[in-house]
Amino acid sequence: MVEFTADPSHPRYASLLSRHKLEKAAEQGLLAESALIAHGRGEAYDYLLGEHTSDNAREATENALAHLKAAKRPVISINGNTTALAGYELLRVAEFLNCPLEVNIFYRTEQRINALLSHLENIKSKHNIDVEIFGREPNSRITGLKGPRAKCCHEGIFVSDVILVPLEDGDRCEALVSMGKTVIVVDLNPLSRSSKKASITIVDEITRVAKNMVNMIENHKDIEINIGFDNLKNLQKSVNIIASNYSEI
Ligand code: ATP
Ligand code: MG
Repeated sequence: MVEFTADPSHPRYASLLSRHKLEKAAEQGLLAESALIAHGRGEAYDYLLGEHTSDNAREATENALAHLKAAKRPVISINGNTTALAGYELLRVAEFLNCPLEVNIFYRTEQRINALLSHLENIKSKHNIDVEIFGREPNSRITGLKGPRAKCCHEGIFVSDVILVPLEDGDRCEALVSMGKTVIVVDLNPLSRSSKKASITIVDEITRVAKNMVNMIENHKDIEINIGFDNLKNLQKSVNIIASNYSEI
């Protein structure tokens, strides 16, 4: 693996660093083959959104954290890209919420699940983080989904009432909503099926979202559930940002 040498003053430093993290994760067997394509789609939207956390994304993040804090059985479900880009930060968020993390991947192979679980266990022991991680032996199914993608852990996703599930695909998101859960997704594409189906959509890059959540927790930010939050209106604000960035050179 080529060493990462970009200087922080490089205008595309954050993007280069994320690409490097994903290249490394791919080499370690943490990612499915299509993972870099999914990341590329995200990067394109991030470019159009201005590559920073918008006010409406911050509002959605605060509301999401408030719902997770108030939940009886919160859970954070993560895939390969999320583990590579924000594994450490999301373990910190899970520790604060006193909730489990579940590794749940689209293309499940035992080898990849094991690689992801040992990667997360290494982060836990290095930083002394106390969080239960599920995913090795799924013993339940997401209602209404067919095939291996329905697999989940009873004590994790199945019984959860509020679920943070970044970079989720549309139909699994819809199935989780149909199970009565509050579903929080992170997706840079405000037009994706996941974005439109979720209870709360954070249209922002997962690395920034996870860091923002850790900052809110560390700064004891006083956050409350936003009862008037309208997900589609919030999504529209992201679409408007893209439209106005597109109309100006
Ligand atoms: P749909 O939700 O309409 O079914 P999809 O789930 O099939 O779309 P994918 O390409 O499978 O789309 O998933 C990738 C999604 O994740 C894209 O919408 C992309 O914008 C988003 N994405 C990729 N990388 C990131 C990232 N680092 N942070 C936030 N969102 C990301
Ligand atoms: Mg999606």
